[in-house]
Amino acid sequence: MAIDNIWVFAEAAEGAPTTASLELLTKARGLGTVTAFVVGDGAGIAPALGEYGAAKVYSTGDLDGKLPGPSGAAAMQAVIDGGDAPDLIMFPQSYSGRDVMSRLSVKLGRTVLTNNTDVAADGDTVKVTTPVFGGETMVTTSFTGSGPYLAAFRPKSFEAEAGGAAAGEVVAAAVPDLGAAGGATVTAVHVEESTGPKLDEAAVVVAGGRGLGEADKFAMVDDVAKLLQGAAGASRAIVDAGWVPYSMQVGQTGKVVKPNVYIAAGISGATQHMVGMKGSKNIIAINKDEEAPIFGVADLGIVGDVHKVMPKLIEALQSR
Ligand code: FAD
Repeated sequence: MAIDNIWVFAEAAEGAPTTASLELLTKARGLGTVTAFVVGDGAGIAPALGEYGAAKVYSTGDLDGKLPGPSGAAAMQAVIDGGDAPDLIMFPQSYSGRDVMSRLSVKLGRTVLTNNTDVAADGDTVKVTTPVFGGETMVTTSFTGSGPYLAAFRPKSFEAEAGGAAAGEVVAAAVPDLGAAGGATVTAVHVEESTGPKLDEAAVVVAGGRGLGEADKFAMVDDVAKLLQGAAGASRAIVDAGWVPYSMQVGQTGKVVKPNVYIAAGISGATQHMVGMKGSKNIIAINKDEEAPIFGVADLGIVGDVHKVMPKLIEALQSR
């Protein structure tokens, strides 16, 4: 028996599928027949999901304030119990993705493999690849036993490319009675205000680290990011120090970015930082220590003081 029936847990933001969902659909369509499972209103985004490979879209419809975790897991289990059991379910490594996956794991009595960056199918064997030790070593693991296999993937593991067919049918996947698990409801949603491109989608990312010396100097990073129409990012050191919010953190416990250009200013290049940015196409590092590990991945290294280099860069960009 070969792997064929693949589900992708697809999420939407501001009325469109998230990039992470499109990345998974793109990968999944190379493995078999793809169904997107939307916990929420799937009809509106079905055409976009189809474009990236979903032949069918399960949709729970509006959740009416219910939490996606319990609702999604119960709805998925109901479809599986009803006879449409996928071989593999791919989840984005997002809050809801992980929540639904872990609850489904308990319901189905199946293990989960998380934090993966690749997947391959060989006959009826599904293997996932997972970075460990901050990305120093890659581990390949095969699922054993019977499916559905549950796997979550880090964002930016795959390139999102359109190329599927038109969206197939949208099939209702009712949320069964959740009992006590349905007791909690969402009463308010706060969206962090931001201007400019999103950090994980920007073509240019300018990130600052402890080498900036003090919180106020992060303004230089912001200025260069704005001048290049990019997004500002940060190392964990300065997030932990309270200089900038966590939403700006790049790395193992922050965001994964793959811009065309990544500028690291005063960042040493710890493995936990590099795992979040080393896939960038062009890396420029500014550091006063020529032995700093960041220079090991940099395409252009500037050995110098950020307080001298960044103002010059700002001046040069402003005069363009
Ligand atoms: P430092 O390591 O202190 O480096 C500062 C650099 O600035 C140095 O290289 C120094 O030479 C240079 N410098 C100093 N002054 C100047 C100057 N005037 N001009 C130019 N250069 C200067 N880190 C992350 O970033 N992201 C993560 O997601 C993350 N997750 C982690 C998860 C775990 C479980 C753990 C244990 C750690 C994690 N870390 C993460 C922390 C990581 O190990 C490093 O501590 C952190 O990345 C260091 O930040 P930094 O490079 O800004 O600071």
